[in-house]
Amino acid sequence: MNTPAYDLIIVGGGMVGATLACAVAPLGMRVVVVDAHPLPTWSPRTYDLRVSALTRASINILSHIGAWQGVRTRRVGPYETMRVWDAQGNGVIQFDAAESGVDVLGYIVENSVIQLALAERAQTFDNLHWRAPAHVQQLQCDDGEARLTLADGEVLHAPLIVGADGGSSWVRGQAGIATRGWDYAQHGVVATVRSARAHNATAWQRFLTTGPIAFLPLDDPHLCSIVWSAPSARAQTLLTLNDTAFNTELQAAFGDTLGALEVVGARAAHPLRLQYATHYARPRVVLIGDAAHNIHPLAGQGVNLGLLDAAALAHTLAEARLQRADYGELRVLRRYERWRKGENIAVMALMDGFKRLFGATATPLVATRNAGLNLLNQSPSLKNLITRAAMGARPDQPPLARNAPYP
Ligand SMILES: Cc1cc2nc3c(=O)[nH]c(=O)nc-3n(C[C@H](O)[C@H](O)[C@H](O)COP(=O)(O)OP(=O)(O)OC[C@H]3O[C@@H](n4cnc5c(N)ncnc54)[C@H](O)[C@@H]3O)c2cc1C
Repeated sequence: MNTPAYDLIIVGGGMVGATLACAVAPLGMRVVVVDAHPLPTWSPRTYDLRVSALTRASINILSHIGAWQGVRTRRVGPYETMRVWDAQGNGVIQFDAAESGVDVLGYIVENSVIQLALAERAQTFDNLHWRAPAHVQQLQCDDGEARLTLADGEVLHAPLIVGADGGSSWVRGQAGIATRGWDYAQHGVVATVRSARAHNATAWQRFLTTGPIAFLPLDDPHLCSIVWSAPSARAQTLLTLNDTAFNTELQAAFGDTLGALEVVGARAAHPLRLQYATHYARPRVVLIGDAAHNIHPLAGQGVNLGLLDAAALAHTLAEARLQRADYGELRVLRRYERWRKGENIAVMALMDGFKRLFGATATPLVATRNAGLNLLNQSPSLKNLITRAAMGARPDQPPLARNAPYP
């Protein structure tokens, strides 16, 4: 049986794995991406139910690796304002791009658009091979290399294998890396919704005690992609309601801010959990993206953190190769782990804290929470700090996340 040799094997060609592949291919590394599923399809006539609110740092990364143009030419929804309010009081906070001296806070992009743009870019490299659908069977690592056996018997080998295979990561399990965390007993209901009033390029989020409901602006001024976090049983009910009954529930949950609401097309629900890998690396194995950390989607940070992982790992590998070091060694991989793990855990804890804070119903806490939001809203300097952090600006930015000229 054939045993092709690569410099890097990436299991999982989702947004994060594909970003890493496109970031290291220009270094001349022979890369193979193995994914269990074929690429998603996308049509300009409908909207993908899964979208991501991409920060500037993420757009910089996609731009530097040559994938942003492919995103842009398909479809994006810029957002200039983010408005968050508490359903239990009068607390409200608003972040504006103009106040922070930028034109947009970020872009809402369909996940399938990001994946197709990355796959298109990947095809431009002769040294990058895409194997999908392909099924992984066995992973063996010894001192010198990682060997991945596929279901058809083919064995791929490389000095390093990357687990970019999402929250239920097979690679993580094979490497014996444990996870910690908990299930929120909630699902995120996703749908495309038409509103009578225009969304005004604003990302809207209303906090209910049962979970936040977000309206993310699409390119059409009257269409938003929603993420409605609700207890799992309620989420299942919301999926089974007919459109009219769903619209009534949605209107009650979100209020009248955008006028009459009407769901367009299908709905789906995704389980929400907090989960993190206790280690990001073992000799010859490293984890990125959701394989390393799963967070609550309330501030839309999951894939943004994953793209920063990919950018940081690409930089770590490039440096190690320059020094002619064996980049599959734990010593090298720990540099990447130290770079990313602390921030990922901090963001995860912050999101979890927000979720708990807004889930509380005790009167004194509700009053303090609302007063705090209003106070923060009146402090431009603090808001500017938060906006910059939410846009992905950080001191130890991987070079690929730094300013890029994007069209
Ligand atoms: C409702 C909801 C809304 C969200 N909104 C946002 C947002 O606005 N902004 C944001 O930043 N994040 C958001 N997130 C989080 C974001 O979707 C994830 O962080 C992101 O998809 C992770 O990307 P990934 O490439 O690491 O993993 P995945 O997207 O899970 O991709 C994993 C890939 O690995 C492949 N794979 C899996 N198992 C195997 C295997 N055994 N063999 C081979 N291939 C395999 C899969 O086919 C897939 O292609 C949201 C999440 C949810 C649930």
